[in-house]
Amino acid sequence: MDLAFADRAHLWHPFTQQRGWEEEEPLIVERAEGTELIDSRGRRYVDGVSSLWCNVHGHRHPRIDAAIRDQLDRMAHSTMLGLSHPPAIELARRLAEIAPPGLTRVFYSDSGSTAAEIALKMAFQYWHQQGRPERTRFIALRDAYHGDTIGSVSVGGIDLFHSLYRPLLFDTLKAEPGDVAGMELLLAEHSGETAAVIMEPLVQGAAGMLVHPDGYLRQVRELCDRHDVLLILDEVATGFGRTGTMFACEQEGVAPDLLCLAKGITGGYLPLAATLATERIYEGFLGEFEELRTLFHGHTYTGNPLACAAALASLAVFEEEGTLERLAPKIELLGELLEPLAAHPAVAEIRRRGFMTGIELLGYPLELRMGHRVTLEARSRGAIIRPLGDVVVLMPPLSISEPDLGRLVEITAQAIDAATRAAEQPRAA
Ligand SMILES: *Cc1c(COP(=O)(O)O)cnc(C)c1O
Repeated sequence: MDLAFADRAHLWHPFTQQRGWEEEEPLIVERAEGTELIDSRGRRYVDGVSSLWCNVHGHRHPRIDAAIRDQLDRMAHSTMLGLSHPPAIELARRLAEIAPPGLTRVFYSDSGSTAAEIALKMAFQYWHQQGRPERTRFIALRDAYHGDTIGSVSVGGIDLFHSLYRPLLFDTLKAEPGDVAGMELLLAEHSGETAAVIMEPLVQGAAGMLVHPDGYLRQVRELCDRHDVLLILDEVATGFGRTGTMFACEQEGVAPDLLCLAKGITGGYLPLAATLATERIYEGFLGEFEELRTLFHGHTYTGNPLACAAALASLAVFEEEGTLERLAPKIELLGELLEPLAAHPAVAEIRRRGFMTGIELLGYPLELRMGHRVTLEARSRGAIIRPLGDVVVLMPPLSISEPDLGRLVEITAQAIDAATRAAEQPRAA
């Protein structure tokens, strides 16, 4: 079969203008090994964005592969609705163990978007059942990203993705990222009608790796406590080591009321998500059946056993390989490697926290598709990256070797140089 032909004939790719797609030769990834992807012609590429921010320990990790095969020999799927199974139970226990203090309850789903939706519904229903039905609103940050389903888009703030859908969305209050005084004003005025503040801690990923000032998260937590508003932290991108600690909120000693996890939870192997809740929230849902305090939510593949087995193996690898301990010097090295690039005339700013890196280019006209050009230049040099507009993202698997990290940054620098040189002069930023 001519795969490229069949792709153009039948596929519709996410976040992709298909007209441009159909004009280009698709890169078809057939295999992967460690931190490299291998295409249908046998060419190898560094996986510079962890296969969309989710791969943690590399591809085909023997420990995780074996765990999935082992689970496959028992069963591929059984429902969590009215039944339970060992991998889901064991993973829930492990997640409660490693999560910030107080998060003892694990509700599974399948994607970051659903993890966020579920947190919103939990917060909303919690207040309703506490006799505070007027607490219906959410405070979200400007440029926030919590997924692509209608509820998660409602608390999102990236106009490029979201503005068209405005008529379908519920209304939210918007706070300026990093502005404590602004958050304080919003809460002073609206806390009586607010169910929760939802935010990505430390780094707003899809916003273009927007890094918050130190202490911001801590202060938002204190404000939420003062106004008795719940705090939902979306660690779908930042979780599982991406910022240098297992969870980003640890760095400010903060524990949320609800925590959203996905992307890296299975080491980047299979779709799985979890919304973690405190006992306080959990208990707010307890009652006699006819009181209807049940959380009426659940997806067919929720808590899939293969995915839970992969997640358990990934957590075991964190311990066995000392993933976080070995990451610290690589985070240092990445900073050193990026230094010369910060001085490049086409680079406006480099933002970074741990392994989450955004290289913001000067403002180029949309039709130049500068981010995409950089991607193509990087591809021809042996690295896969995917930018967010004109922000070139680097987020390799935590397991990447120091030489490969060097190679990734070098290719990225060359790609930025080649793409921006070939283009006309940028507009002023
Ligand atoms: C990717 C992402 C999501 C959405 O996750 P999906 O699995 O793509 O639905 C939600 N929140 C954040 C912070 C993300 O980065």
